[in-house]
Amino acid sequence: MYLYNSATHKKELFVPNNPDLVKMYTCGPTVYHYAHIGNLRTYIMEDVLEKALRYVGYGVKRVMNITDVGHLASDADTGEDKMLKGAKRENKTVMEIAQYYTDAFFADCEKLNIKKPDVVEPATNCIDEYIEMVQKLLNDGKAYLAGGNVYFDTSSLEKYYVFNDHNEEDLAVGVREGVEEDTNKKNRNDFVLWFTKSKFEDQALKWDSPWGVGYPGWHIECSCISMKHLGEDLDIHAGGIDNAFPHHTNEIAQSESYLGHKWCNYWFHVHHLNTDTGKMSKSKGEFLTVSLLESKGYDPMAYRLFCLQSHYRRNLVFSWENLDNAVVAYDKLIAKIASLKDEGEVEADAFNALKERFVGALNGDLNTSLAVTAVYDVLKAKCNDATKLAALADFDQVLSLNLLSAAENLRKKEAEEAAASADPEIDALVAARTEAKKAKNWAEADRIRDELKARGIEIIDTPQGAKWRKV
Ligand code: AMP
Ligand code: ZN
Repeated sequence: MYLYNSATHKKELFVPNNPDLVKMYTCGPTVYHYAHIGNLRTYIMEDVLEKALRYVGYGVKRVMNITDVGHLASDADTGEDKMLKGAKRENKTVMEIAQYYTDAFFADCEKLNIKKPDVVEPATNCIDEYIEMVQKLLNDGKAYLAGGNVYFDTSSLEKYYVFNDHNEEDLAVGVREGVEEDTNKKNRNDFVLWFTKSKFEDQALKWDSPWGVGYPGWHIECSCISMKHLGEDLDIHAGGIDNAFPHHTNEIAQSESYLGHKWCNYWFHVHHLNTDTGKMSKSKGEFLTVSLLESKGYDPMAYRLFCLQSHYRRNLVFSWENLDNAVVAYDKLIAKIASLKDEGEVEADAFNALKERFVGALNGDLNTSLAVTAVYDVLKAKCNDATKLAALADFDQVLSLNLLSAAENLRKKEAEEAAASADPEIDALVAARTEAKKAKNWAEADRIRDELKARGIEIIDTPQGAKWRKV
């Protein structure tokens, strides 16, 4: 599989340390509010990546954190803790907010067929690990104490801007809102590993540490949680492109300084879902959720298809019109699948040829729009329906669009509707008219047609015989 690696700025052949266990880490949500459909675009594409890796034969262990402390309003380590902001907004405790929005996040994931990672770890579970890492960085002269906080010293690194040195666009994603200079920092890019002194004395969650009562910085949680569950070598680290700088840049800085060797080999970044006014953002307060889509009658699967139709490295513009187009595409697709009959033996050669196209799409830097095209190729293929159904079931292990179950539901619904509108008396009259026509008894045939018309029934003659409908 070829994947674009943001750390090297090119597509690379994916070679894991151990093919039986690809180690994958994903930055989880900051649970101070609902996830918006932009956040969920990132999680959908990471889900596809994980499933694609499994599909092409790798074993995968995937770990995700839940940010329930330490993510401040500004990435420059200033501003209020987002969790505290959420708690104040809703007059609840931080832990109540964290639990409520963590549950809401996984409920949304389930609706979108996003598999839960193998390990999900709340940041507040790993305080000992953060303290251990920070202490080692201090001992090794990679961190310093200033104004009561512990900072990472970026001047101790040979190289800091891992993702950004070639790319102006990447730098732009790190643009910081409402930056206030922290005068404790020795270098502009130094960042907080552990807060003890903050101008926000009302921080709700605090722990004892060798440097005083305080709380961890946001970046340290991902390094420690990843190492806790995946060890010292990570194959893939994933997240939204806004996390590349400073979050992932800082994760690399502290992890590699702590380990003394390279930490993660491939960096997978999903680009943004934008609205016509720019990036969809939780902190702006107004955003679209899965529940909102559902309340407007949208099937979450249509949103998943909408995401799969575009490449993860392109910005995706959300509009209701674009979503409506995805709904039409999804409904048509499911209707076509519902018309397939599961008869005959699967034709191995045809199946393999279809699968080859699908695998080719995934292997080409997770080209999901081509993978969706491979689904249409199945429907157009010159093979029997059993082969088509087998290929669709196979592809849906990765796409997770409910291709077969939605088709089955549609068939059931249509059968129920037909049964609900069945009327044996009318059927008998229509059959009698057909007999009369056969016997060339035109007067009787016309009489029956008129009688039915008077009862509000119209007869439609089709090549498959006479049908009727209420008018
Ligand atoms: P957060 O809950 O704010 O920590 O973000 C959760 C994930 O969503 C992170 O991986 C972000 O990079 C990603 N993200 C945030 N905004 C967007 C967006 N508009 N489109 C796609 N991904 C996003
Ligand atoms: Zn992270």
